[in-house]
Amino acid sequence: MKKSNNITKSALSEKDGIIAPKSKDKSAIDKIKKKRRSKKSTDSLIEGIFKGDIVDLSRGITLIESGNPKHIKEARKIVKACLKNTTTSIRIGITGVPGAGKSTFIEAYGKYLTEKRKKVAVLAVDPSSSVSKGSILGDKTRMETLVRNPNVFIRPSASGINLGGVAQKTRETILLCEAAGFDTILIETVGVGQNETVVHSMVDFFLLLKIAGAGDELQGIKRGIIELADAIIINKADGENIKSAKLARVEFARALHFYPEMASGWNPKVLLTSALKNEGIMEVAELIQSYENHTKENGHFNRKRIQQNTNWFMQTIETRLRDEFMSRTEIKSELEHQISLIKKGETTAFDAAEKLFSK
Ligand code: GDP
Repeated sequence: MKKSNNITKSALSEKDGIIAPKSKDKSAIDKIKKKRRSKKSTDSLIEGIFKGDIVDLSRGITLIESGNPKHIKEARKIVKACLKNTTTSIRIGITGVPGAGKSTFIEAYGKYLTEKRKKVAVLAVDPSSSVSKGSILGDKTRMETLVRNPNVFIRPSASGINLGGVAQKTRETILLCEAAGFDTILIETVGVGQNETVVHSMVDFFLLLKIAGAGDELQGIKRGIIELADAIIINKADGENIKSAKLARVEFARALHFYPEMASGWNPKVLLTSALKNEGIMEVAELIQSYENHTKENGHFNRKRIQQNTNWFMQTIETRLRDEFMSRTEIKSELEHQISLIKKGETTAFDAAEKLFSK
């Protein structure tokens, strides 16, 4: 580095005495300088992330979230560097309907973890945030204590036009957080649409947060969600709710018996918490720890991560192919035309697609 600086310096001082096309040379030198600066800044950003610098981590994530081609290139370099990170981490997905107590739970659980010298990153997958201006994590009044904790990093959901885009950005954000030394990654999502499946596909452990209602707990619960859960937590098990929470626990535990054994060889558990009163948090932490031990012992932990990476690779190809195809001008106009024909019943979906591919 020192050497190249000297060369630049001497080259400049020599040119002082030359009358020839100064401006052209100057612009060329500026270009080189700019290139070196930007190269260095990406490198130093990576260095900063590995040192656990929060400002650099946030900058890196902002680059990941950017649509600017230059930023995308820079972000790729950062993500690649962060892939080399060898620290161990656990990624935990947390889902539940709005009001189930997710942020209260994360506040309590996050506090518990930091007391155990863990470093916690809290992320969110909330594709609706661009519309609703961030229904989760966007609100600064939530997780008040965690926000001020130096061992906690909170990042609201990337805004994106679709869930796929948000998912990709979150996956890359996880890698950056891990490289920055965060060993527990909590990913919050609201139980709407496909959010839960997507979050499930990027975590090691998936937690479903429920509140006890007036009996018949299983009614209204989204199909398939129980199958995804490694643990079900009945939150707000306090005050007058205790009785119904205990009943709900029995009902869920019974229902879980009817599900086929999980690939992890793990039996999902049902626990009670009062996030508000800080009760049952330690039990949840211990349960997640025993899951980690169990799946690391039987090899499932690693297998699942490898599988997730392979799926991510395939999804990236699909998205890229679709985006490149759809962004072509001739496809765009033909697409609209074919949609109007489909609406009028003048063509079939298959024929319309054929027409596009023939372009
Ligand atoms: P989220 O939308 O799932 O993130 O839910 P919040 O964490 O914002 O909680 C919604 C409301 O439920 C808030 O008023 C909380 O104070 C309350 N709440 C959360 N956890 C508990 C709990 O364990 N017991 C009781 N009684 N209230 C709770």
